[in-house]
Amino acid sequence: MAAVDQPRLERADGDGADWLSYGRTYLEQRFSPLDQINDGNVGKLQLAWWRDLDNARGQEGTPLVIDGVIYISTAWSKVMALDARTGKLRWRYDPQVRGGVAVHACCDVGNRGIAAWKGKIFVGALDGRMIALDAKTGLVKWSADTIVDHSMPYTITGAPRVFRDKVVIGNSGAELDVRGYVSAYDTETGKLVWRFFTVPGDPSKGPDHAASDEAMSKVAGKTWSGEWWKYGGGGTVWDSIVYDPELNQLYLGVGNGSPWNYRVRSAGKGDNLFLSSIVAVDPDTGRYRWHYQSTPGETWDFTATQQMTLATLNIGGHPRKVLMQAPKNGFFYVLDRETGKLISAKAYAPMNWATGIDMKTGRPIEVPAARFATSPYMVFPSGIGAHAWQPMSFSPKTGLVYLPAMQVPLVYSNANPFEFHKGRWNTAVSLVGATPATPGVPAGTKDIASLNQGYLLAWDPVAQKEAWRVRYGHPWNGGTLATGGNLVFQGDSKGGFHAYRADNGARLWDFDAQTGVMAGPISFKAGGEQYVAVLAGYGGSMGVATPPPGPDQVYPNGRLLVFKLDGGAKLPTFTPTPRPAPNPSADSFEPAQIKSGEGLYFTYCSICHRGAIMPDLRTSSALSHAAAWKSVVIDGALEEQGMASFRDYVSPQQAEAIRGYISGQAKLLEGQQALAPGAPAAGH
Ligand code: CA
Repeated sequence: MAAVDQPRLERADGDGADWLSYGRTYLEQRFSPLDQINDGNVGKLQLAWWRDLDNARGQEGTPLVIDGVIYISTAWSKVMALDARTGKLRWRYDPQVRGGVAVHACCDVGNRGIAAWKGKIFVGALDGRMIALDAKTGLVKWSADTIVDHSMPYTITGAPRVFRDKVVIGNSGAELDVRGYVSAYDTETGKLVWRFFTVPGDPSKGPDHAASDEAMSKVAGKTWSGEWWKYGGGGTVWDSIVYDPELNQLYLGVGNGSPWNYRVRSAGKGDNLFLSSIVAVDPDTGRYRWHYQSTPGETWDFTATQQMTLATLNIGGHPRKVLMQAPKNGFFYVLDRETGKLISAKAYAPMNWATGIDMKTGRPIEVPAARFATSPYMVFPSGIGAHAWQPMSFSPKTGLVYLPAMQVPLVYSNANPFEFHKGRWNTAVSLVGATPATPGVPAGTKDIASLNQGYLLAWDPVAQKEAWRVRYGHPWNGGTLATGGNLVFQGDSKGGFHAYRADNGARLWDFDAQTGVMAGPISFKAGGEQYVAVLAGYGGSMGVATPPPGPDQVYPNGRLLVFKLDGGAKLPTFTPTPRPAPNPSADSFEPAQIKSGEGLYFTYCSICHRGAIMPDLRTSSALSHAAAWKSVVIDGALEEQGMASFRDYVSPQQAEAIRGYISGQAKLLEGQQALAPGAPAAGH
């Protein structure tokens, strides 16, 4: 089972039957050469089978298919092995992550994928464990603790990568004052082989005795000022890590600063390496080789963690070994992966923080106002990203990259003085509302909400220009898959799953998945037939933090959907379940108490409870009873569901003040609903 090794992974390009690693092959192109399903017959694509999952949190995982078995990881880092043709369960594994860990996760409890190597399946658990499972039975072979400091809110949501008997994983948490690093383990024993920190630590503590020591002292250390280590510094490698078999090199996609605000983090000085950088290291030792920083002095949550895709492109008449990335900051980068030198970069999304890239230095040409030093500024793109973790694909047949792109501007400001709350949301940036007069808002804008858009962008990486696009009404759509059948597959935030012609974007096929589809689809062959598979389940950072893209509803559990030509299966009919009614308390609260509750609500609660996925607290059954409320907020009665006790952050009196504020909001909502019967509850 899962007999995957270095030679098999290096040959995977020609093996269309399987999907052996996160991006299918080491190059991470997410291109399946299969063409049984193609632009001529995709209209006959139907569900072959599906599997209901056990929760309604965001599903971000890319499945693996190895020799007729499909392996998936789902929210809460659970893993399942199923027969790829029938969906029959072979085994399932639940790492039993303590529910309260959910409040350490900035962006939902999703898991983006697993890795396979020599009979083992590897999964990174949300609580920071790197776990090796027996691919035959799902039993634990070993488990390693990746967390260097358990007083800090580190999590794992990314997919591990394997090469040369090593499995490598990073962490998340750079909104919550952690310091980023990547750890490589021996696949057989689970022993740590090397660790690479991405930002310098507290200089008074000396070197880390890690693979990154030399890079920190010679390259990165001098690019920092102030007392960044008090806030972790950030630089988590929470998504893309790519092994390059042609150069025996490993690329790390490094995230944003902690806190975001550069003036707080580094006294507004220095480039702050290796934030927002791609770092190439020796895969066997973790030693630094080169880096390219896309956003020096990062201050907007402009991570460079986004997918890195390797290819050989013909540029200027010469084949070049390139690395392509479309990070949050809105530029599409093509790097020479032998040297790390920039070949080209062009804006793939509307942007107003920079006007271009200086090709002599490789640095962005910044718009000074975008650093929001003296007044707020609406920044295009924002920390949501012009592209987030949703995977892109590259078709060597069309030469195009298929990118789930977004336009979600945010207004950055210094409206509230920075108060540090250890282990909680610490960005030192106030995101405030916009009016048409806010600096950065495009002239002539009447409806600020209309600025939020999502689209599937087909991008020519050689010419650095758009080939075609498909618009969606909402951002936060799914990852993409390109196939040899001239097709591109992508899900959307409202529950559509679509197939487009890869060469011109014509829409050829649609499926109603009944919940938003964010994850990357795959294709494989079993029993002589081609299949397409995708996990459905809305959530992630936008799912957690913003109102639902469709009807305000209690989101259904996620599903694994598997399609083939004339598959014949049908999902049961779906009726959205409306959210419960507002449930204000009859108790009375003092105005000062409500005011204090409002501040606490926005410090501790709103980041998770204003979006589509988690309960709207105005409708909480605990809201009307002081004792029930306290049992949840202080005593942790709902910890198993992911709502940890907040007793380390708020006192029982403060919890009661929060209840007072939300109860008032519930009364307001009740009033609005009475005025507009049948209208959906608005997000607040
Ligand atoms: Ca971030």
